[in-house]
Amino acid sequence: MTAATPPAAPAAPPAPARPGLQLAAPRRAKPPRHLADLAPADRVTAAAELGVPAFRVKQVAQHYFGRGESDASTMTDLPADLRSRLGEALLPPLLTPVKELEADGGDTVKTLWRLFDGARIESVLMRYTGRVTLCVSSQAGCGMACPFCATGQGGLQRNLSAAEVVEQVAAANRRLAPTGERVNNIVFMGMGEALANYKACIGAVRRMVDDAPDGLGMSARGVTVSTVGLVPAVDKLAGEGLAVTLALSLHAPDDTLRDELVPLNSRWNVAAVLDSAKRYFDATGRRVSIEYALIRDVNDHAWRAELLGEQLAKRGSGWVHVNPIPLNPTPGSRWTASDPGVEDEFVRRLRAAGVPTTVRDTRGRDIDGACGQLAATDISQPPAAPAPVLPV
Ligand code: SAH
Repeated sequence: MTAATPPAAPAAPPAPARPGLQLAAPRRAKPPRHLADLAPADRVTAAAELGVPAFRVKQVAQHYFGRGESDASTMTDLPADLRSRLGEALLPPLLTPVKELEADGGDTVKTLWRLFDGARIESVLMRYTGRVTLCVSSQAGCGMACPFCATGQGGLQRNLSAAEVVEQVAAANRRLAPTGERVNNIVFMGMGEALANYKACIGAVRRMVDDAPDGLGMSARGVTVSTVGLVPAVDKLAGEGLAVTLALSLHAPDDTLRDELVPLNSRWNVAAVLDSAKRYFDATGRRVSIEYALIRDVNDHAWRAELLGEQLAKRGSGWVHVNPIPLNPTPGSRWTASDPGVEDEFVRRLRAAGVPTTVRDTRGRDIDGACGQLAATDISQPPAAPAPVLPV
């Protein structure tokens, strides 16, 4: 009998280069300064720099935040000669629409924006009865490299400024103006990891929740910051005195699998991120959401639901809920969503462990506007032609 030698495996095709973790953003030219970058005290400094009394800048802020007005030429309570000067200095255009796609009968709108330096981002507006949600981007690209997420595949281009985040909201409000609606719910679930761009994102949140003329006057309870679990930043957020909701993208209750699905797990593991989420609840009283994209045969096993339930329940009750999301398969991905029966069983086991669980509705799938699909591909532009091969 001859020893069974396994047939030689065919040479595997080289794996496509996967971006690695990128915590620090590349240094790039900064976008022009905008009113929405300024805390109230900075407005006073800006007025001094511009050689105008502070109340003039406050008037501009009242128009921008209080009335959603960004065209200084209409600000008739300003002296005519100041309108264009203050407009140019404080309200430079930051976002240029490149493309808009609608789904759900117009109730979901994805906008692709070009920034001052050509970087692209997307935001998604979703209208429900009594609630208008905007999913905002916090970075151009993302450095977290989660393999199931479209944004994660392209790496991080740069951090957005606070005003580039706020302007996504202001633009959505301008679009909604004829209907009398306003965005009242913000989720930092577009492109990027908000807590890796901490200062700008907290600045943006303050401009969203402060009352006019300092901000848009939204309720902090309507703002959700989603993170892969940058533990020091979660702790810092807990001390900001902001009642925003924290969403933690967990996707696996065990380190072996989470190391693969969320590469940052190699820095802060499941126990560390769950502990920080619990500390966030203890400090703010805001119930934390655990995000869990259900991926067929990868993380959707009943035993993982039980392990997750156990991990959450042992840290207390009433502090957390779980949002399973059927995976939105990204182009070329080997992964797909769990079967409905498997999803139901996953939910059942979590609830049996005493953990409130609601499957997240996925709007905008057909326009690639659903969770994890934002890749800012501009299909109105032909793909770049391959570089010509030069004769040697
Ligand atoms: N960096 C933040 C925001 C990312 S997008 C974070 O990771 O939390 C918001 C949510 O969509 C995250 O929970 C993310 O893990 C999830 N997501 C990413 N790709 C997805 C996909 N293909 N299907 C379903 N959810 C996805």
